[in-house]
Amino acid sequence: MDQVTVLAPATVANVVCGFDCLGFALEEPFDEITLRKIDKRDVRISHHDDFGLPTHPTKNVAGIALIAMLDSLNADFGFEVEITKRIKPGSGIGSSAASSCGAVFAANSLLGGRFSSNELIDFAMEGELAASGTKHADNLAPSIFGGFTLVRSAEPLDIISLEFPPLFATIIHPQIEIKTAEARAILPKDVPLRAAVRNWSNLGAFVAALAKGDYYLLSRSMEDLIIEPARKSLIPKFDELKAESLAAGALGGGISGSGPSVFMLSETIEIAQSTSSAMHSIYSTTGVDFNIYISSISPTGVRLAQ
Ligand code: ADP
Repeated sequence: MDQVTVLAPATVANVVCGFDCLGFALEEPFDEITLRKIDKRDVRISHHDDFGLPTHPTKNVAGIALIAMLDSLNADFGFEVEITKRIKPGSGIGSSAASSCGAVFAANSLLGGRFSSNELIDFAMEGELAASGTKHADNLAPSIFGGFTLVRSAEPLDIISLEFPPLFATIIHPQIEIKTAEARAILPKDVPLRAAVRNWSNLGAFVAALAKGDYYLLSRSMEDLIIEPARKSLIPKFDELKAESLAAGALGGGISGSGPSVFMLSETIEIAQSTSSAMHSIYSTTGVDFNIYISSISPTGVRLAQ
């Protein structure tokens, strides 16, 4: 086998009380990535989409991750990469992570699975470093492991795959630009102890609720006293989105990644659809273009195309 195609789905990171550590994988939207092994030590990238992303391998996160892998092997071969991107860059649902994880997952399949999941994440993290300036794995972990993941530590990597009950995500992506640097700069430098205690209590409760399938506890623990109050002003109608989603029956939710996408979790697909209608009504009045996705949680993350 010297060619493989993988589907690399979007991921939600910064899950409410789990800033910089808790994430989950969606079934869709996803990028499609085809990789071919070539005899020359090179990485060649082409894009079949309209996002205007760089194709130079040291500028595209897929190339950066693959170069890290080839370097570790001291390889005498390379890869040709074709990317059809469906996750808009900068949407806050792990666009760069989908490309870097999709690329290294595909390469690993061509190499007979010689790398562990953590090694793949280490390679992909070089891409995240280039895209955002920090080594973080909170989108990469759910992309590679699937489901809900907790990154206890990024360096060295310590990732925990969490058990979870059936859940459906509704995600609205307002077509506005939020620069990651701006979303970082707005965060408080110091956190009151009272808020910190409340957030880590919520995170512990959230993880327990996932394991027990306790939807009521899950709903109560989706509360964030630190990041959301600082960032929500970047997203038009954030409070209305949240209030109306809860009124439609959603369990809770918040800002996806560093925005502008907003996600809500629901117990059933029907409630996820009602949540979508509620979001649609609110955003129709804003004049801001938007997309809404409804997806179950992907238990696998990146996967081989059939
Ligand atoms: P998101 O907010 O959706 O997670 P990111 O902020 O992770 O998006 O990544 C977007 C940044 O990464 C953009 O600056 C984009 O130009 C850069 N980038 C480089 N290569 C890729 C790629 N293959 N896919 C997506 N983004 C890429």
